Amino acid sequence: MARYTGPSCRQCRREGKKLFLKGDRCYSDKCAVTRRATIPGQHGKARQRKVSEYGVQLRAKQSARRYYGVLESQFAKYYDMAERKPGITGENLLQILESRLDNVVYRIGFASSRKEARQLVRHGHYTLNGHKANIPSILLKAGDVVAVSARGRQTDKIKEVAEANAPRPVPKWLDVDAAKLEAKVIEMPARDDIDLDVEEHLIVEYYSK
Ligand code: SF4
Repeated sequence: MARYTGPSCRQCRREGKKLFLKGDRCYSDKCAVTRRATIPGQHGKARQRKVSEYGVQLRAKQSARRYYGVLESQFAKYYDMAERKPGITGENLLQILESRLDNVVYRIGFASSRKEARQLVRHGHYTLNGHKANIPSILLKAGDVVAVSARGRQTDKIKEVAEANAPRPVPKWLDVDAAKLEAKVIEMPARDDIDLDVEEHLIVEYYSK
């Protein structure tokens, strides 16, 4: 499946906020948003002017899309799904994005970033409910169990990553068993469980035009 392959930090600088796309680096002084908080490109500084209502909505959509590493068409499909579900569309959308397998692997600390999670999933390092799962966009539901696969256990890589990420808080909708290298989805996340710095109603307004 297609994915963005350009520089990650450039995406954060474009959105003017940390999207945490690079693991440890995002928490260090080397973070590009900390060092150079201007829009990328030759005229980046000049472009920091008042943003229109549409611009604000567009930036909200782009921030969420980039945060989860999802391409435009897939994001639009998620929005359609969210609209068809009962409840608040914006919250439904975030819940769908959170339930992606690559996001869950990142949230439980078995990868340092969503990008790394995506790569490890593609390489067959995880199972879902005991079965091979190498598609990062699989949507999980309550009761699903993600575990490191036999292949993943053959290398020290995942163990080292899990140990390094152990101090990172795990959201309460996920239950991690670090010794078994597995985690269970207890329930689907509510909006309060999702630490995304985006006003989702702006995304709904963007797609409602
Ligand atoms: Fe974004 Fe992380 Fe790069 Fe900072 S270090 S700009 S948070 S990807």
